[in-house]
Amino acid sequence: MTTIGVLALQGAVSEHIRFIEESGAKAIPIKRPVQLAEIDGLIIPGGESTAMRRLIDKYHFLEPLRQFGQAQKPVFGTCAGLILMAKSLTDREEGHLGFIDMVVERNAFGRQRESFEVGLDVNGIANKVNAVFIRAPLVKEIGQGVTVLSEYNGEMVAVQQGPFLACSFHPELSDDNSLHQYFLRMVEEQV
Ligand code: GLN
Repeated sequence: MTTIGVLALQGAVSEHIRFIEESGAKAIPIKRPVQLAEIDGLIIPGGESTAMRRLIDKYHFLEPLRQFGQAQKPVFGTCAGLILMAKSLTDREEGHLGFIDMVVERNAFGRQRESFEVGLDVNGIANKVNAVFIRAPLVKEIGQGVTVLSEYNGEMVAVQQGPFLACSFHPELSDDNSLHQYFLRMVEEQV
């Protein structure tokens, strides 16, 4: 059975686990780097990217995560997860994991109270995807190998580069697991 790990240092972990299980795969919370060897794909959840980065460093996850990506294993980042996957950020010299050739602006929609939910068209998914935006980032620039899967008000909010998928919003906080099913198809095509 396909096994998906959810990086469980901080943020919305249990919701992703539930969505993956509903989509028919096994899901495990990843708390230690050695567990990365047990999974076919990884989800990096939303939360707070600077806090998550501190925990990544504290628990020695940075190199193992980079190696996971270098091995072309599929990774899906949502919100703070998208921030961690970017090659560069508008408010920081260097990106964190650098999996996707994109420049990301954090908190691009303003504060917490500017949170909203919207139905989005996403390439490759037939229905509208329910997207919850919470202090969400935006993808401001992309490199050649990156495909835009969804836009909101003309801004890029979901992208893919090979085995790497990322969205600005929280699909796992809605009732719609279609992006998780999309990610599972990516993983199953690889294994
Ligand atoms: N604003 C957060 C950050 O910079 C991301 C918000 C989220 O994941 N909902 O990390």
